[in-house]
Amino acid sequence: MYLKRLEIYGFKSFADRVCIEFDKGITAIVGPNGSGKSNIADAIRWVLGEQSAKSLRGGKMEDVIFSGSQTRKPLGFAEVTLVLDNSDGALPTEYSEVSITRRVFRSGESEYYINRTPCRLKDIVELFVDTGIGKEGYSIIGQGRVEEILSMHAENRRGIFEEAAGIMKYKLRKEEAQRK
Ligand code: ATP
Ligand code: MG
Repeated sequence: MYLKRLEIYGFKSFADRVCIEFDKGITAIVGPNGSGKSNIADAIRWVLGEQSAKSLRGGKMEDVIFSGSQTRKPLGFAEVTLVLDNSDGALPTEYSEVSITRRVFRSGESEYYINRTPCRLKDIVELFVDTGIGKEGYSIIGQGRVEEILSMHAENRRGIFEEAAGIMKYKLRKEEAQRK
């Protein structure tokens, strides 16, 4: 499974619809300070369900919506779509290509879609459990994260290994069953 494409509209500095194609292998994103490199990583975490505005470097969720510039008016909503190649079946779905979309309006209302079909955030989280891809997954290592992992309590660090080993979904199901 690999990241095939990222479509961004109205998210942070991306006022126009931007489509970024990724090939197999390594992709590097370069650009001057403030040109939007980190905003791309934020878009990926956001579409995977990030709920913390702070970790997206904003004060409230509305801050992810393009806020206008000298020549352009602010936009009313932000939308990000992530397309993954699933021809190896790593994601538990029959589709060989999976798209995840999230949209947020200024009212704060969020919408989620899997393959353009409305779904809950929970469905997206479940799709990625044990793949290492979720918003807390080890596939996105942000600044300071290496140090944070090294200085974590043993319990929390174990969580990262449990996810990599593929047993996180059983833990989540057990917790859910115990709550009922
Ligand atoms: P650096 O090299 O310094 O890390 P960068 O390429 O990672 O820079 P980003 O942090 O991705 O840059 O982009 C910051 C830019 O995004 C700033 O110019 C900021 O004004 C703009 N920005 C952030 N949120 C919004 C928003 N809601 N609307 C419009 N622009 C935004
Ligand atoms: Mg940056």
